[in-house]
Amino acid sequence: MSSETPKKIAILGGGPIGLEAALYARFLGFEVTVFEQGKIANNVASWGHVKMFSPFAMNSSPLGVAAVSAQDTQYSAPSANDLLTGDEFRERYLLPLGESDLLVDHVQTQTRVLSLGRQGFLKNDAVGQPNRSAVPFRLLTVDSDGSESFHHADVVIDCTGTWNQPRQLGPSGIPAIGERSTTEEIEYRIPDFQQQESLYGNRHTLLVGSGYSAATTLTGLSELVTRYPETRVTWVTRDGTARPFSPIPEDPLVERSKLTETANQLAQDANFVRHLPGSSIKAMQKSITGNWKIEIEGSHEQLVECDQVIANVGFKPNMEMLSELQIHQCYASEGPMKLAAMLLSSSATDCLQQPKTQAETLMTTEVDFYLLGSKSYGRNSQFLLASGLTQIRELFTVIAGRDELNLYDTIQPSP
Ligand SMILES: Cc1cc2nc3c(=O)[nH]c(=O)nc-3n(C[C@H](O)[C@H](O)[C@H](O)COP(=O)(O)OP(=O)(O)OC[C@H]3O[C@@H](n4cnc5c(N)ncnc54)[C@H](O)[C@@H]3O)c2cc1C
Repeated sequence: MSSETPKKIAILGGGPIGLEAALYARFLGFEVTVFEQGKIANNVASWGHVKMFSPFAMNSSPLGVAAVSAQDTQYSAPSANDLLTGDEFRERYLLPLGESDLLVDHVQTQTRVLSLGRQGFLKNDAVGQPNRSAVPFRLLTVDSDGSESFHHADVVIDCTGTWNQPRQLGPSGIPAIGERSTTEEIEYRIPDFQQQESLYGNRHTLLVGSGYSAATTLTGLSELVTRYPETRVTWVTRDGTARPFSPIPEDPLVERSKLTETANQLAQDANFVRHLPGSSIKAMQKSITGNWKIEIEGSHEQLVECDQVIANVGFKPNMEMLSELQIHQCYASEGPMKLAAMLLSSSATDCLQQPKTQAETLMTTEVDFYLLGSKSYGRNSQFLLASGLTQIRELFTVIAGRDELNLYDTIQPSP
């Protein structure tokens, strides 16, 4: 850890955690630039139609609400218990935050970070040496016109999330035969069924995956059935049980437990769903008429013909942009090693029960480089915004060199 106060902080990604980290840094007087490849909270916008399962108070910081309220006396923050959609979260909190005086001139939208390295050093130079950590980082960015630029920073905080890199749907995590040539035709996210009724209503959809995204997709499809009674779903899960979701005992996040219970019930009882547990996709092919032929292997080996394929099989971090840095990564989750080890050592399946982040677990082998937010969890999908806010608070005790620092306690919105 460098002992001098760093001057310039580059934050990669203007999602919820990037914005909150930038705000914290600005309150402390650091010079900050957020590089965001799209618009503010770009990824949240792409799941804007989805209702969040944690209440607003868990997804926002008192510092953020204070910053927005201080600027706009008419601002009415969502209530602590409000369960917002992604769009509401973005419009009622993240956009005003990004446009607040403290951040507005410090966020460069439409600026994608392509790569970063340590000035004057290659990846394999000066391993763990103080002369490596004494020099700034150099970042290569590209804007929407295709213009490339270099930037420098003393500290880099990567908050670029994982949403931009879906995993493959084939067996063992590798692509199914034919997947690579049809990637553009596969939906890897959660469709807005209200907007895409013609694609899914009265059609046969193959759904792959058994996480919260798959549960959300299945619930969305079930809502289409009332208007489009011929809608059908074949749901393929690796898990061999008829009820793919194990309930979290006394789950404090009521919406989350409702979601998984609904998905379990649909898997067992709904006429429009054919659930194939213990199975995976071996091969896929799309005909010129637009129909899919899917070969399924495992407990329910068969050929399926369908109109649409939705693969909610998780995401992975983009480590390619960090490939010139010296980061010790977990070989399982691809997250930074110390944090990954802490998460792996916890057997908790509930993200709320994860051990609390300590500043020490955020240190990487590349001094002054940090991963926060959903990317810091790598392939582990347990990340919650509340954990990201804890990460920010812990990290700035290190960056500012003040063990007791906690702006979330000391700065509160006016009543
Ligand atoms: C459908 C859905 C619902 C969820 N609901 C909840 C919930 O209710 N409660 C909860 O706590 N969590 C929830 N999560 C999990 C998690 O909190 C969110 O994914 C959250 O958006 C993560 O925030 P983040 O800032 O880490 O990453 P993101 O929101 O993914 O933000 C990353 C940002 O980085 C930008 N970016 C990416 N690559 C680059 C690059 N190379 N250069 C520049 N910018 C880049 C992206 O455009 C994006 O704006 C949900 C997730 C999903 C997908």
